[in-house]
Amino acid sequence: MSDSSFETQVVHNHIDQSMALNSKTTPIYQTTAFTFKDLDHLESYYNGEAAYLYTRERNPNTEELGQTIARLEKAEAGVATSSGMSAILSGILSVVKPGDHLIAAEDVYGGTYHLLSKELKDFGLEVSLVSFHDLEEVRKEIRPNTRLLYTESISNPFLRVEDIPGIVSLAKEHGLKTMVDNTFATPYLLTPIEQGIDLVVHSATKYIGGHSDVTAGVLVGRSALIQTAAKKVSTLGASLSPFEAWLAQRGTKTLALRMDKQSENAKKLANALKEEPHVKTVYYPEFVSERGNGAIVTIELQPNVQVEQWFKSLGWVKIAPTLAGVETTVSYPVKTSHRSLNEHQLETVGINEYVIRLSVGIEDSEDIIKQFKEAIKQSI
Ligand SMILES: *Cc1c(COP(=O)(O)O)cnc(C)c1O
Repeated sequence: MSDSSFETQVVHNHIDQSMALNSKTTPIYQTTAFTFKDLDHLESYYNGEAAYLYTRERNPNTEELGQTIARLEKAEAGVATSSGMSAILSGILSVVKPGDHLIAAEDVYGGTYHLLSKELKDFGLEVSLVSFHDLEEVRKEIRPNTRLLYTESISNPFLRVEDIPGIVSLAKEHGLKTMVDNTFATPYLLTPIEQGIDLVVHSATKYIGGHSDVTAGVLVGRSALIQTAAKKVSTLGASLSPFEAWLAQRGTKTLALRMDKQSENAKKLANALKEEPHVKTVYYPEFVSERGNGAIVTIELQPNVQVEQWFKSLGWVKIAPTLAGVETTVSYPVKTSHRSLNEHQLETVGINEYVIRLSVGIEDSEDIIKQFKEAIKQSI
């Protein structure tokens, strides 16, 4: 299976069929625990013969999702978690302990920013949040107790593609571990593990699930590191439920199709909006991968656009504080993800009231373009 192409793999990633009575899809093992016929059988779990004991520790559905994403990311192993945030937390805690220092990109996802700058600091971790635009700036932050470099493969909301080889070589020079949030790119577009990153994390709530109906996370990397992380996931109670795992797993089957269509639509929309005089700037990556440049487009409207009216004129395009569903949606960073930032911090990251993030869906591209053009027409 591992030498077939991405499009084939996503459809045929199944758990061991002997467990599934050859059913065409994987059944949902909606059970909290597994039973044992006698004490020898119970003992067999502890010597590695029986696979499952208690769902918080291991379950066929969560395991299937972890292994699927590991395979797609070209990683040795993976563990599924209750959310993107718990995958990030479990990954970080597998590498650092109180007193250690980590360096993260200052423009990481809002929840991650809060986790690093508040929760993990309170827990005794030293954290530096810096721009990863210039890796020399990152190098200056390295201390004797630095353990980890943390960033996102495509930044939010301005969609800067990270210099992964540069980060890997900087980390190697200083004996640091590296962790990358690959949510925006998905393994269809980028596989940072292949480039030497130690841990890759996903909010499977986004493109992996793809239908805005499941909250889940996945962490992948080398077996030893994932084993450590999986133990933490179980002990912290950050395990994913079987049904949620099943939904996210189902989402992976159409990941390639969705990314193809959504990337293509996003490119067309970005090009169309570049022609609009009332759009000051269109942010869309020049190049992410041969397969496409992703499906998020960020725009800054001209100050003559009435932003409140613009949001009211979007027709079937809904405002949603998320991304990556099959429906085109818009989100408003100043009122959601970056709401807690003060004036000065907003200026530093370049966000103002005219910046809007578009998550492009699978609808007909002409209809999407028409809707955004119409909204601009009605709000000037
Ligand atoms: C949504 C998101 C997260 C958090 O994921 P949850 O599933 O909501 O916990 C982390 N990183 C990125 C880039 C995200 O978009």
